[in-house]
Amino acid sequence: MDKIKKNLLILNQQIESIKASNRTVIVAVSKKQDSSKIIEAIKSGQTIFGENYVQEALEKQEILKKYNLEWHFIGPIQSNKCKAIAENFSWVQTVDRLKTAIRINDAREGMEPINVCLQINISSEDSKGGVMLEAAEDLFKEVSKLKNLNIRGLMAIPSNTSNAHVLKKEFQLLKNAYDEFKKTYPSIDTLSMGMSNDYLEAIQQGANMIRVGSNIFGERK
Ligand SMILES: *Cc1c(COP(=O)(O)O)cnc(C)c1O
Repeated sequence: MDKIKKNLLILNQQIESIKASNRTVIVAVSKKQDSSKIIEAIKSGQTIFGENYVQEALEKQEILKKYNLEWHFIGPIQSNKCKAIAENFSWVQTVDRLKTAIRINDAREGMEPINVCLQINISSEDSKGGVMLEAAEDLFKEVSKLKNLNIRGLMAIPSNTSNAHVLKKEFQLLKNAYDEFKKTYPSIDTLSMGMSNDYLEAIQQGANMIRVGSNIFGERK
């Protein structure tokens, strides 16, 4: 069996075994991976892919346009890329400022709403991006008013650590925030956290969307 197929099989089985009741969506993070590898994943049933760089993503989307795929933008958002993101992705998980939300909303006019997660900074490392938790409520409120955006939930990247205790704390922080938002906005349904090194912990702490790259595709170029 080829490697990507096997990796996806194992991942799906693991998810099945820890959380039989609740669906966990796998976003296969294909940044810096060749289209040929994405095709292998598609042949194994994967249809949801995440990309961080707009130009690279557009090139792959062109190559793969005969497949019916769902593309998630998960990288930092530059203002001059808002239009391309709005026009070419069905999800954007890294909205952390009202200004970018408005730009994406404007560029999405006339299309069905784009699905949005607010990226929350749970690690308090500046480099990570994301709105601080204290400011998230205001941002959420403003973003939820934009009619071409369909706000689906929260996303975060935890600290770059293998310290299980720290990771657990950060995931719990995001889960608590998600539960709070869900009281006011009951239609939200997405808690996106967990990557190759920590997806099991993330699911245990309530993630229902994980973003896994190297564990599926191997090392990036
Ligand atoms: C690259 C990336 C991932 C995937 O990382 P892996 O460790 O390869 O699983 C997930 N989420 C975001 C936001 C990323 O930038």
